[in-house]
Amino acid sequence: MTHSHAAREIDTSRPHSARMYDYYLGGKDHFDVDKQAAEAVASVYPGIFTCARENRAFMHRATRVLAKEHGIRQWLDVGTGIPTEPNLHQVAQSVVPDARVVYADNDPLVLKYAERLMRNTPQGRTAYIEADVNDPGALLNAPELAEALDTDRPVALSLNALMHFVTDAQDPYGIVSRLLAELPSGSALALSHCTPDFDPDTWQKVTDIYTNAGTPVQFRSRTDVARFFEGLDLLDPGVSVGHRWRPDKEPTASDAEVSLWTGVGIKP
Ligand code: SAH
Repeated sequence: MTHSHAAREIDTSRPHSARMYDYYLGGKDHFDVDKQAAEAVASVYPGIFTCARENRAFMHRATRVLAKEHGIRQWLDVGTGIPTEPNLHQVAQSVVPDARVVYADNDPLVLKYAERLMRNTPQGRTAYIEADVNDPGALLNAPELAEALDTDRPVALSLNALMHFVTDAQDPYGIVSRLLAELPSGSALALSHCTPDFDPDTWQKVTDIYTNAGTPVQFRSRTDVARFFEGLDLLDPGVSVGHRWRPDKEPTASDAEVSLWTGVGIKP
């Protein structure tokens, strides 16, 4: 594993986005400080639990569609989060047993649990890289990536609930282009991103809670999320609210509860 941030301690004095997200999903891998911040978010935006669940459900469906309909056999999942079953490789390997998945996250806590991401089918393979999406060069050059993935063949870049942690000052569109530039034709981008579009006042409060907790966030409009897919062929139904992207069942939640733009595009 790449220990570029190995010196970073797991800081339990401040809430952290990965552990707050674990709380939203009903996991057990968070501390009191995370629970308090997550409950502060839930008090202004009770939809957060639905949003988190629908975000996972989008990842499951997008992964299956890419495996079944677009021949994808390899994934690069950045901003993996604390493992939550089923993890992306389990979804992918349930369709294609030899699927290969490289996970990356910059939170040392995720690294601690990474062995859970390594439980594989006999034919499949996974790897974990501790890396920051703000340094795409280091991520792309990590030896684990080269060992696990064949970048001459299509790779799906999975950026779920990640890019709203990259503010415009950090060049989010440049980062995504840089990552996609290294991948061949037939590769894919699957992305989900929280949005203030359906309830701007509430999302301003959510933004303030994260920012005050030391995590800058930038939730984006549909137009700004669609920009991540520029140059790609968007799969139907285009950039959609999470629960409306190829749903398995009739959506019941409201768009405001979900507040998540999602989409999948293929590199021509
Ligand atoms: N992709 C998962 C988890 C989303 S939570 C899912 O959709 O279910 C967001 C994750 O992004 C957290 O684990 C957090 O640690 C990670 N993250 C935030 N900023 C990051 C960065 N700059 N580089 C890499 N990972 C980051």
